[in-house]
Parts: sequence; C-alpha cells; structure tokens
Amino acid sequence: MRLSKTLLPTLKEDPVEAQIVSHKLMLRSGMIRQLGAGIYNWLPLGLRVLRKVENIVRQQMDKAGAQEVFMPAVQPAELWQETGRWDQYGVELLRFQDRGGRDFCFGPTHEEVVTDLVRNELRSYKQLPANFYQIQTKFRDEVRPRFGIMRGREFLMKDAYSFDLDQQSLDNSYEVMFQAYKEIFKSCGLSFRAVEADSGAIGGSASHEFHVLAESGEDAIASCDSCDYAANLEKAVAGLQDGTDTPPTAEMQKVATPEAKTIDEVSEFFAVTPDKTCKSLLVESDEGPCMLLLRGDHELNEIKAGNLLAGNNFRLLEPHEVKKLTGVGVGSLGPVASKLKIIADNSLANMSDFICGANEDGYHLTGVNWERDLPSPQFADLRNVQEGDSCSRCDAGSLRLDRGIEVGHVFKLGDKYTKSMNMTVLNQDGREQTPLMGCYGIGVSRIVAAAIEQNHDDNGIVWPIFLAPFHVEILLINPKEAPAAEFAEKLYQQLLDSGLEVLLDDRHERLGVKFKDADLIGAPIRVVIGGRGIKEGAVEVQSRKGGSSQKVALNEVGETLINRAKDLLSGS
Ligand code: ATP
Ligand code: MG
Repeated sequence: MRLSKTLLPTLKEDPVEAQIVSHKLMLRSGMIRQLGAGIYNWLPLGLRVLRKVENIVRQQMDKAGAQEVFMPAVQPAELWQETGRWDQYGVELLRFQDRGGRDFCFGPTHEEVVTDLVRNELRSYKQLPANFYQIQTKFRDEVRPRFGIMRGREFLMKDAYSFDLDQQSLDNSYEVMFQAYKEIFKSCGLSFRAVEADSGAIGGSASHEFHVLAESGEDAIASCDSCDYAANLEKAVAGLQDGTDTPPTAEMQKVATPEAKTIDEVSEFFAVTPDKTCKSLLVESDEGPCMLLLRGDHELNEIKAGNLLAGNNFRLLEPHEVKKLTGVGVGSLGPVASKLKIIADNSLANMSDFICGANEDGYHLTGVNWERDLPSPQFADLRNVQEGDSCSRCDAGSLRLDRGIEVGHVFKLGDKYTKSMNMTVLNQDGREQTPLMGCYGIGVSRIVAAAIEQNHDDNGIVWPIFLAPFHVEILLINPKEAPAAEFAEKLYQQLLDSGLEVLLDDRHERLGVKFKDADLIGAPIRVVIGGRGIKEGAVEVQSRKGGSSQKVALNEVGETLINRAKDLLSGS
C-alpha cells in the first residue's frame, strides 16, 4: 500500500475524548473514526488488522469443525417472544418497527435465530453434533459505551452455537471450542487467561471467559498462585477459614456511637480492625427485602447475591428506603432482633464477639455472638474475594487479582433455547429428543483494542506480527531523490511478490513526521531508504520492537527483509 494514496490520517496529539491507550492509538494512527456514541468507521489501516483477527478466528473455527454461516443482523420480535427474551433483555436491545408496524431488533446475539434455523433443517440425531458460527456485526445499546471500539454499541463478534444430543456430547463440543479459543488467542500473540465465569442472564451451567491481561481491563480476575484455579471476580470463591469456632468471651453491650456510621468510623471508635465488625445491607429480592451480613472489611458481590436471591429484582435499597422500612439509618442497622430474613457471608460463621449496628440510631452492639444473642442465620458465599485470600481449590495457594479484558466467552446453555423453541430431532429409538446447546462468543473488534493495550510503547503501536497491518514499512526519506525512489519502488515490488504485506511511505513529508508515523503505525520491520544510503551502498533495517537497527548492503536488503519477516511469522 502506498501511503501517499491511502486514507491514513494520523494525529500528533492524544485526542481528548480517549482515556485508554488503545483508544488513543487507534485514533492517532488513523485506524478508526467515531460516527456516533459507540459507533465507528474502520479506515484502511484498522480494517486490515480487523480482517487479520477475523481470519485467525475463521481458520481455527474451521479447523475445529464448525461450519460458517451468515445470519441476518435484523431479527423478528416473534423469535425473541418465543424464548421470553423480548421482555427480559432490557435496554441493550435495539428495537424498531418496519413500515407495517411489525417489531424487530438488531441482533445483540443470535441464539434465537440459529435455533430457528436448525429446528427447520435438522431432523435426525445423525446430523449431530453440529456447530454453526458466523462473524457478524452486533448491536447492543450499551449503557456506557466507552474506550472506543473496546466497548462499542456496534461491534464485530464471532458467535458459534453447538447442538448435541446429550450432556456428554455437549461437554465434548465445549472442550473442542475451549481448545480452539486457546489457539486463537495464542495465534493473535496475546497473553491471556481462561477463567471460570458467571453464566449470567443468558442461562446455562458452565461458562468460561478468556481475558487478555491488561491494566485497563474492566474485569477483575482472581487466580491462585499455586494451582490453576482462575475465576472472574464475579464468581471467584475464597477458601473458608479453619472452622475453629471461638466461644464468646464478652457480654453483648449497647454502646452510644453518635459519630460512627461507616465501618471505618466504627472501627476507629472501638479501636479494632474492620474484620472484627459486621456490616448489614438491605436488598430487594424476589422474596421481598432481605438483610445481608458481611465482615466489615469485605465487599458485597452483587452477582452472587442476585443469583442466590433469584433476582432480576435484586438491588441494594437506598438509605431513605432502609430508614422507611426499619426505622433506623443505614449506619446503625444490625441483625440482632431484626425481623427480616438474614443471609450472612460464610466468613461470618466463625466470628465471635463482633460489633454490629444496634438497630437504634447512634448505637452499636459489641460482643455479639451467634446463638447466644441471635440465631445463626443462613450462611452463603456473598462477597468478593480479596488479594491474599486462600484458594478454594487447593490447600496451598493464595489468590491474586489482575485486570482483564474479556475477549471471549463460552457457555453451556443446555436446553434453554431448544426447549422453549421446540427444537427436536429423532433419536436412535425414533423418538423426539431436545438437543443441548452451547454458545461461544469472541469479540473480534475488541481483540484489536486489547492487542494494542498489550503491545505498545510511548511512541505508538508495536504490532505482534500476526496482527500487524503490514509486515514491513519502507520509509522513503525523499521521493524527489530519483535513485532512492527507484530503489524503494523496486524493493516494494520484490517484497509484495514474495507475499509480504508492505507499506511504502512515499509521501512528500518531513522526515520527523515520517518516523513518528512509522512508530505510531507500528509495522514490525522498517527499512529506511535515502540518497545517502544508496550512495554508500547500504540502508538501515530497523525492528519496531526493541528498536534495534542494522545496516544492510543494497543487494541483500530484499532477502534480509523477507527472511526476517518469515522468521517472525514462523515464531522464531
Ligand atoms: P461484557 O461483560 O464485556 O459486556 P458480555 O458478557 O456482554 O461482555 P458476550 O455476550 O459474552 O459479552 O459476548 C461475547 C464477546 O463479545 C465478549 O466476550 C466480548 O469480547 C465481546 N463484546 C461484548 N460486548 C461488547 C461491546 N459492547 N463492544 C465490543 N465487544 C463486545
Ligand atoms: Mg455486555
């Protein structure tokens, strides 16, 4: 590609609207431009990278035996009504009507469409297992679109859906996809981790997410430093402390704490660490208001609590609602003598002599003990794990927390969609049987941003070779110098003929601008060609990663570049 004839509008400064590195660099290197909130144009440079990701994904999906299809982005409401998701999906579903007043949505995902397709086409167990995938534009009316295409409203996803006759076969299909995902992220040159995940609103049992590790990641992921346990914070479970029930040593006492409302204030007032206190939260659930208890130093995990309380209706009550319901402010709320249903986090089971609100404004109770002062409530896992917590999987390890960008997600859906949409095939006995489904998503466009988060320096993008928009950039210092320009042109053709992807910077631009842009664009290999080099018989070949450079004789430049690129492409 000749830069002089390409729409590659680079920017000198960081755009003010961009907060994270990948967003800044995608705008600065001219990969994308915003059209509206969460909606982007992909310019030639960006599109080349997007297509690379797409091809890697396609190759591995084909290799894993999935069949590519292409389903409509626009979906009739009737299908979503069949599964009940027309009402359940909420604000992220972009709904509209055609001129006949019929309801449609722009697909945020395709479970309904694919299930409709296969219920009409698959008849026999002999046609299973089957896995269909597509690479398709999705639209989700995200509440907070941000970070450029990282969390867009319109984005490119690979979604795959497997159909199996029984659980064992589904387990196998899931495993095949799991391994294919590992290959995909490896082939993209990403450092990633597969973690256990909550299966959320989409339904089903098992689920794993694939995260690219990066500081800017929106998710926290916990992993054990000793075994291979890793889970999204939404789901991660800490090991329980030793079950040494310590007996009460103190009487329960009511103490006036007029100024102490928060856990920090209460701990300071009583000169104890927060883990000696208990905090009480009121939540709305399907069964009405419920009190949740947590150790003072722990945080509520709303996903766990929501799952436990079966709750689409789950939410924390506002302070004024707490006051109205209980007659006390949130700062003095407590479980003793409360009439509400109480669920306490597991970590409270072994606590004795703890401090909690007295259910009377301006007072706390100290020396509180289960059974003696209040009945033992239901205990459950309600909290976020913390750095240093013990691992729930092995005895030896402790948990660490990292930030991750979710680039892939695999679910075992079971019969949620096949059942509600009456999809059956004839089994070996000639009876109708409902197949089990799995679904497997990859954020194709998000991978582009995630790769930049992991591969950049102060000057720009440092592409891993497999995602690089170009393998080589030829930086022609001055196109007016005929011998240099001719040499660059010949080299450009030679590299293209050898199958490499090459960017020729043949612009009439200042040298500084050309170097800055080359750094920004981030081709792994660069060759600088100018009049002086041609005269001296050698030009400079540079490596974007690490910045090393080497003089290469003119008659060897072509071969050198081809070999370097081949080495990188073969992983050596
Ligand atoms: P998130 O928690 O980030 O919203 P999700 O759980 O809603 O993701 P899935 O429904 O599993 O996402 O979609 C499959 C993949 O699509 C995700 O793993 C992610 O990589 C990508 N993806 C989801 N939402 C977006 C978005 N708004 N912009 C870009 N990519 C997205
Ligand atoms: Mg989402």
